[in-house]
Amino acid sequence: MKEGIHPDYKECTVTCACGNTFVTKSTKDELRLDVCSACHPFFTGQQKFINRGGRVEKFKKKFNID
Ligand SMILES: [Zn+2]
Repeated sequence: MKEGIHPDYKECTVTCACGNTFVTKSTKDELRLDVCSACHPFFTGQQKFINRGGRVEKFKKKFNID
């Protein structure tokens, strides 16, 4: 990798297994997910399920929330 060359971020259409779609920034044109903010337990109110190390962080990375 040469310095000064950055990935070409563009709008990326994300399609979830639940049927939800949304747009984010990525180097890819298209992404497919098993869970999204519409169907993931963390966002659907079942918060007891979460709070085990790493889960949320992984999820955030997956959706480029950070
Ligand atoms: Zn989903």
